[in-house]
Amino acid sequence: MLALELFRSVPRYVAARAVGERVPGLLAGPLAPLRLVNRDEPTVPGEGWARVRPRLSGICGSDLATISGRASFYFSSLVSMPFVPGHEVVGDLYESLGDLPAGTRVVLEPVLACAARGLEPCGACASGSTGRCDRVTVGHVAPGLQTGYCADTGGGWGHMLVAHRSQLHAVPDSMTDATAVLVEPLACAIHAVLRARPEIGASVLVVGAGTVGVLSLLALREFTSAGPVLVVAKHPRQRELALRLGATEVIPPRDAVTTLRRATRAYRLNPERGASYLLGGVDVALDCVGSKSSLDLALRSTRAGGRVVLAGMPATGADLSPVWFRELDVAGAYATGTELTDKGHRSTFGWREGIDHAFSAGRLGTVKLAFNPRGE
Ligand SMILES: [Zn+2]
Repeated sequence: MLALELFRSVPRYVAARAVGERVPGLLAGPLAPLRLVNRDEPTVPGEGWARVRPRLSGICGSDLATISGRASFYFSSLVSMPFVPGHEVVGDLYESLGDLPAGTRVVLEPVLACAARGLEPCGACASGSTGRCDRVTVGHVAPGLQTGYCADTGGGWGHMLVAHRSQLHAVPDSMTDATAVLVEPLACAIHAVLRARPEIGASVLVVGAGTVGVLSLLALREFTSAGPVLVVAKHPRQRELALRLGATEVIPPRDAVTTLRRATRAYRLNPERGASYLLGGVDVALDCVGSKSSLDLALRSTRAGGRVVLAGMPATGADLSPVWFRELDVAGAYATGTELTDKGHRSTFGWREGIDHAFSAGRLGTVKLAFNPRGE
C-alpha cells in the first residue's frame, strides 16, 4: 500500500530541526525524514484487532513537530520507526470486529494502551485513564504511544491501518467525515479544559487559535462555567472564529501582555531582559501552541496561585521562574481518558451529547487541515 512514512535519519532529523522553524516549505522536501513509500499493509497483531481504511486523516501539531524535528528527544523512546503518521482518523472498518460489522464508519481513539497491547490493565488503564498507561512500549505491538507513532499499526496517512476494538467508536450516520475527523481533537480539548477546571466565572487565557485553541475555547464554553475567555490569535480568520465561538476578547500576540494587564487590572513589570510579565493576571491559562514563547506568555500572565495547562506537545526552554514565584499549578493534558463529572466518571469519548452539541449548526467553519489518503 502507499503511505507516508517517517523514518529514522539522524542527519535529516538534525537538518529538519535546523531549517524547520525558518523555512517551513522545506519540511515536506528532501530534508524531512518523511517519505512516500510502498510498504506492506499492517497485519492484524492479535485477538480483537481489525483493519481500517482511512477516509479522512487530520494533521496535528504534534505530527508537524515530529516531522520538523521540534519534538523533544524524550519521545524517541515512545515511538517505533519507521511509522506511518496520522492519529486523527475517520475510516471504514474493513472486516467485522465483535459487535461492529464490516463497513462501519469509525473514529479512532489513538492511544495504544494495555487493552490494545493484550495486557492486563495497569493501574491507570484500570481506572479508565488510558492516556496515562505505563505500558505503551510493551505487549504484542511495537512501542508507540499512539497509532500514528507505532511501526506495527500503520497510521492515518496511509491506505490501511489496524486498530483494536478498544480504540474504535462508531460514527452516527448524521455526522459528516469532515466533522468526524474533529472528534479526536475535540475530545483532547475537552480533556484539557477539564484539567484546567476553571471555577465559575474564572478568567481564562487561551494562547493560540489553531485547532487546539479553537476547540479548547469551544470546550470551555460547552463544558465549564468559565467567565471571560481571552484568546491570543495570530490570523484574522482565527480572530473571527474565536469571537463566534464565545471569546470575550481576541488579542494579537504582539499586544498580549498589555491587553491582559488592562483586562485583569494587573501590574506589568519589564525585566532587564526577556518578555514583560504581570503581577496579577488570569486565573487559568491554556497553552494551545506549545512553543517556548506561548508557554512563557501563559506562565507570565497567570495570577499567583493560578493554573497553567499544557494543551499541546510543549517545546523546551520556557522560563519556570513564575511557577516558583507565583506558586502556579502547572498541569499537562495529554490525549483523553476518564473525566470526573457531576454524574461520576465518564470516558471523554463517551460524551456523545456534548460532542454532538459542540459541533451543531456549522459553528466551526474550517478549523482543521485534513486529507483523504486514498487520493479521492
Ligand atoms: Zn495501561
